[in-house]
Formats: sequence, structure tokens, C-alpha cells
Amino acid sequence: MTARIIDGNALSAEIRSQLAERAAALKTQGITPCLAVILVGEDPASAVYVRNKVAACEKAGMRSLRDVYAIDVDPALVFARIAELNADPSVHGILVQLPLPKHFDSEAVLESISPEKDVDGFHAENVGALMQGNPRFIPCTPYGVMKMLESAKVPLKGAEVVIVGRSNIVGKPMAMLLLAKSCTVTICHSQSKDLAFHTRRADILVAAVGRAKMISGDMIKPGATVIDVGINRMADGPNAGKLCGDVDFESAREVAGFITPVPGGVGPMTITMLLANTLEAAERTQARGKK
Ligand code: NDP
Repeated sequence: MTARIIDGNALSAEIRSQLAERAAALKTQGITPCLAVILVGEDPASAVYVRNKVAACEKAGMRSLRDVYAIDVDPALVFARIAELNADPSVHGILVQLPLPKHFDSEAVLESISPEKDVDGFHAENVGALMQGNPRFIPCTPYGVMKMLESAKVPLKGAEVVIVGRSNIVGKPMAMLLLAKSCTVTICHSQSKDLAFHTRRADILVAAVGRAKMISGDMIKPGATVIDVGINRMADGPNAGKLCGDVDFESAREVAGFITPVPGGVGPMTITMLLANTLEAAERTQARGKK
């Protein structure tokens, strides 16, 4: 069997053009959706993510603000800027690029963002709403994965799902979303015993670890849907420096029913859903204004 590819670039293009239409409609009402992005330090990967997010906003007809701070900035300055953005009615979404330098209390920074503008969905209030099954903002990466499963018409009700990785930004919210769709969800992590035992049972396998090619074809149930969230740079070999996922694509595609590639899979969908959340936040301000 050769797996069918769920193409994140193609699906993103389709969704982004719908978002651009909604953004244009909102503009006729005098509201331009606006995302503010804060970056601290010069981590090259973070700088690329921020650049891509800002560019995607502009392409979809949305406004973006970018604040870049030196790595040793006094956190008080960043908190002051977030307070300013919280109070600015022309800003609809605020995102602080993670990871932050060690002298920052990341949790306090995320909590300082107004929950109504927290388009990453990381504020405790929004995490709680997601847990209760009534999300205000769905974290962008798991949101993008749900769209991919939907587009491929992967059956969810009763499906055995195994998620490898339990981070607050991917693994945990992914589990909540799939649970809400009546999947049976197992979450694995670094202390799980016999990872392959779990992964081989999965109708849907989500890998979100950050270890290049750690999931091989022999760890996958024939016909399973494999979602590769990982983004890693290959350390050596002929492809050194190139991006790869947590899944060994070549062996996995021979076994899986559906698979997402890296690059061109979950990555572009994450940015697309960030645009969707920003637009939604802007549409909500318009709806509030009408009341
Ligand atoms: P974290 O480092 O926060 O979490 C990694 C998780 O993997 C942890 O729960 C850890 O377990 C688990 N883990 C580590 N080693 C193993 C192992 N040997 N077996 C099983 N589980 C293991 O990472 P993130 O969730 O932030 O990101 C995961 C990957 O996804 C990264 O490659 C990241 O770059 C990528 N990513 C991609 C995005 C996209 O848009 N495509 C967006 C966000 C992330 P424990 O909790 O026990 O330490």
C-alpha cells in the first residue's frame, strides 16, 4: 500500500482564500483584522516562523504588527507592550513567539494576554474552555490537524488515536479535540513503556515529539492515518540540514492509509489556523459592536 498524502499546502491555500474573502468583507465594515506578534531574541527558527506569520497575514488582507526585542530585554517592557496591545481596539490577536528566554516567566507572559485576543489559545482561561468542550480559540497546530482529518474524511467516531507527545501546545489540546469527536485517545510521552505497542494499535497516529524519524513503518498499523507534527533538521547524511518530521516518511508511506509530509503538511496549516483565529477575533469585535 502507498499512503495517500494529505497536502497541507493545498488545503491551506483553499482555506486562506476563504479567509481572505471574509477579511475583505470585514474591511467593508471598517474593520481590518490585525495580528500583533512579539518576538524576543534572535533564535533563527523563531524568526522564520514570525516572518512567515506576518507575511501570511498580509497576503490574506490582514494587518500585522511585529515587535522584536533583544534577548536580554527587561520583561517589564514586554509586559507593558502587551498591556498596550490589549487596550488597542484595532488589534484583534496577540501572539508571543515561544520559546522565550530563560529570564522570562513564560506562563505569566501568556496569562497577561487578554483571553479575547489570545489567538494561540494558550491562556489558562482558553485552555479551560477547550477542556470543557466549548473553546474560544483552538490552538493552531491541533486545529490544523483537525482540518486535515476532516478534509481527508478520516472517520473519527470510536477511532483508536495515539498521540506521541504531551506538550501544552500540541499533544494535550490535540487529545481534547479528538476526545470531543468521540475518539479513544492514548497519549504517550518520554516515560511510556513500549511505544511501538501503542502506536501499532492506532487508527490515527499523531507524532509531536521533535525527534527526527523516530516513528518507522513497522510501528504503524496498516491503513492508519499518520499525522506528523514534528519539525526537525537532519543532522547528517546526504540530506543534512533539510527538514524532516518525527515519522520516517519513506517506510511509513508503505504502510499507512493517509500520511502528512514534512515539509508541506501540518506546518502551513498551523499558520492558516492562526489567520482563522485572528479573523474570528475581529469578527467577534464587529458582532459586539452591533449589539
Ligand atoms: P515538546 O518538546 O514541548 O514536547 C515533546 C513531547 O515529546 C514531550 O511530551 C516528551 O515527553 C515527548 N517525548 C520526547 N521523547 C520521547 C520519546 N522518546 N518517546 C515518546 N515521547 C517522547 O515539543 P512540542 O510539542 O512543542 O513540539 C513537538 C514537535 O512538533 C517539535 O518537532 C516541534 O518543532 C514541532 N511543532 C510543529 C508545529 C507545526 O506547525 N508543524 C507546531 C508546534 C510544534 P515528556 O513530556 O515526558 O518530556
